[in-house]
Amino acid sequence: PATATPIDTTIHRRKTRPVPVGNVTIGGGNPVVVQSMINEDTLDIEGSVAAIRRLHEIGCEIVRVTVPSMAHAKALAEIKEKLAQTYQVVPLVADVHHNGMKIALEVAKHVDKVRINPGLYVFEKPKTDRTEYSQAEFDEIGEKIAETLKPLVVTLRDRGKAMRIGVNHGSLAERMLFTYGDTPEGMVESALEFIRICESLDFRNLVISLKASRVPVMLAAYRLMVRRMDELGMDYPLHLGVTEAGDGEYGRIKSTAGIGTLLADGIGDTIRVSLTEAPEKEIPVCYSILQALGLRKTMVEYVACPSCGRTLFNLEEVLHKVREATNHLTGLDIAVMGCIVNGPGEMADADYGYVGKQPGYISLYRGREEIRRVPEADGVAELIALIKADDRWVDPE
Ligand code: SF4
Repeated sequence: PATATPIDTTIHRRKTRPVPVGNVTIGGGNPVVVQSMINEDTLDIEGSVAAIRRLHEIGCEIVRVTVPSMAHAKALAEIKEKLAQTYQVVPLVADVHHNGMKIALEVAKHVDKVRINPGLYVFEKPKTDRTEYSQAEFDEIGEKIAETLKPLVVTLRDRGKAMRIGVNHGSLAERMLFTYGDTPEGMVESALEFIRICESLDFRNLVISLKASRVPVMLAAYRLMVRRMDELGMDYPLHLGVTEAGDGEYGRIKSTAGIGTLLADGIGDTIRVSLTEAPEKEIPVCYSILQALGLRKTMVEYVACPSCGRTLFNLEEVLHKVREATNHLTGLDIAVMGCIVNGPGEMADADYGYVGKQPGYISLYRGREEIRRVPEADGVAELIALIKADDRWVDPE
């Protein structure tokens, strides 16, 4: 009935603390941040600067770089400097893939955030009998980790920088694996252990990730993390991703299934789509996920019917033409419908509608109002004229 209370369709995002990463802030109600990672060797300064710039120019707001050695850490200082001189300041994250603290400490001077993987802070001797760790053994190793991590935490804290505690399902430390199994619980406990170490040193500029290549595992891990954080009164932002998602259509769908599902529940403050393709290919996927969920609007939203026997023009061709002419406009919704049989409501309240009316003619709509009927050949030009008349047009760059 018309009097029923309308259902709230907005996504209510989980409240998180703001974590500054250079000139971008993750969490704290800020728009979900898009990030990616270059795959150049960090020692190739020119190549890395160009790759970071390429990514940043197309909307990658934070760029990650791998740092496998001290030489790479020093190279990153040059990269940062060169970017600032020749382009602009770009928030950079160093991926430190080991517990080599010297490297992490060096790199912490140059970047805005350091990503560590708790699974690589291993002090235990492998237990060949796979018996569980006793509490004493477990805690003793925990203390060693805290000792090792302390200088990095203190450096990041004192310099106002951030850390991502990036747990991966595929690389849990043995004692977590033997105690909690190869499970979301193991992933969450691993993250919590590192969070507690940071908190004991009064460092809270933390972002947490719990990636897995299997979507159900990743979903369960993030959801459990949120539950545990809520119980513990923690409000750290989450970095979402599906690791090793692969490439092509399935890689994109798999990433969307994982990332989109959590975002739809209000979980997630920054995302990375990991494709086995050039990193530039990841950025449009990120923005499309965010736009589809109404979390960020960075392009025109096209509403188009799938076409059927009633379609009065070549819908695919027309949609392509309309897109070509208008895809540089942001913030607009444009509907392209093969016929009006189901009424303007089918256009999902788009700002403009391009609708088949009778053979050879289309109708242009502003919202639900039919504005004019024009020959099909003039349809796109007339649509542009209408948008211009409404003062909502900008020329393409
Ligand atoms: Fe078919 Fe018309 Fe629906 Fe398009 S809008 S699918 S042409 S009935």
